[in-house]
Amino acid sequence: MTRDAELVDVLVVGAGLAGLHTATLLARGGHDVLLAERRPALTGAVRTTGIFVRKTLDDFPLPPDCLGPAIRRVVLYPPSLRRPVTLDSDRDEYRVGDMGPLYAASARAAVRAGVRMELGTRYVGRRADVYALEGPAGPRRIRARYVVGADGARSGVARDLALDRNDHLLVGAEEVFAVPAGTEVPAFHCVLDPSLAPGYLAWVVNDGQHAHVGVAGYPRRFPEGLRRAVARFGATAPGLAGVQRPAEVERRGGPIPVGGLLRRIGCPRGLLVGDAAGAVSPLTAGGLDPCLRLSEHAAEVLDEALRSGRAAALDRYDGAALRTSFRGRLALRHGLAQVRTPAVATAAFALLRTPVGRAAARRVLFGDRSFPSPARS
Ligand SMILES: Cc1cc2nc3c(=O)[nH]c(=O)nc-3n(C[C@H](O)[C@H](O)[C@H](O)COP(=O)(O)OP(=O)(O)OC[C@H]3O[C@@H](n4cnc5c(N)ncnc54)[C@H](O)[C@@H]3O)c2cc1C
Repeated sequence: MTRDAELVDVLVVGAGLAGLHTATLLARGGHDVLLAERRPALTGAVRTTGIFVRKTLDDFPLPPDCLGPAIRRVVLYPPSLRRPVTLDSDRDEYRVGDMGPLYAASARAAVRAGVRMELGTRYVGRRADVYALEGPAGPRRIRARYVVGADGARSGVARDLALDRNDHLLVGAEEVFAVPAGTEVPAFHCVLDPSLAPGYLAWVVNDGQHAHVGVAGYPRRFPEGLRRAVARFGATAPGLAGVQRPAEVERRGGPIPVGGLLRRIGCPRGLLVGDAAGAVSPLTAGGLDPCLRLSEHAAEVLDEALRSGRAAALDRYDGAALRTSFRGRLALRHGLAQVRTPAVATAAFALLRTPVGRAAARRVLFGDRSFPSPARS
């Protein structure tokens, strides 16, 4: 049955940022990499706002023409939207990626490095070391020395390798549209209101080029559905003075794993990266920095395994060890999940108005901490 399967060093499933980065690093190391992505084009069905934090911008060479203007201001609002807390940084803290072109540029870099990119190609399952794909030309079978699950929060590769799976998920959705330049100071507006965003935040990111208006929270706590919640928030959302929402907007959305990095993210057959590995900050729900850093570690251990011929090199890819640095953020996530009514949110917000509260918020929002980076250390 396996005789006519195509042979590759590594099959990477999923061409989000995690899969693209892992595949590119492995191909640059001289390995034969096939990257299978179910979307027919990487510019469609974007699932992220695309806010990159300063640490990521400092450490990774993202294409500058795919990044929006710098944001230095965060404004935090209670449910009433009255007396918000404004935090300004003296550094450029965030830039919003123009994600379609950014994925396309990353894909071109992957192909230049030697990655064989198969779009419109879905991973459907595994039997031993043979992986079944369904592509534009029909079913294909790939025999891979290793497989990388970069297939997002509900990873099929994790299921088939019997690795850990995300079971603590938020869902988020947003509308994106162009805004006239110069209407507002570029800012990230966050509203703490569990009636709009149960367990997380509602946000407006307006960088003077685009506005992203969104909400995220626990799926079972949106009685009227996520899309209605976005519409309701959009009707009174802050940070959009002088901006008219157009009739046609881009809609984005998807699950966000916030249970912290999973413990078992590797085995002798392969490993998980990005959302598939739960590599998302449980507090901020930011996953772009973690997915890039964990991908570097993944590429490093796979490179060692391929060169040495020893699958034991993957033992080093240990989610349980890295997970310890998430403890504080998991505790804060637990706290945020308990904020169930606007009255509790209003009371909690009072803390943010104190010097201690403001300092804590600055540490979370403008701090230098990022995902632990074992590959670099
Ligand atoms: C609404 C929203 C807003 C967000 N905003 C931010 C933000 O501003 N900043 C931030 O840091 N984080 C943000 N996040 C989180 C962040 O986007 C993710 O953590 C990050 O994009 C994960 O990248 P990834 O490559 O692991 O997964 P993904 O980008 O989800 O990529 C997975 C890929 O796998 C493909 N795939 C899935 N199954 C298969 C299959 N069977 N066969 C082939 N391909 C498959 C999918 O099509 C997809 O392209 C946000 C998340 C959401 C939902």
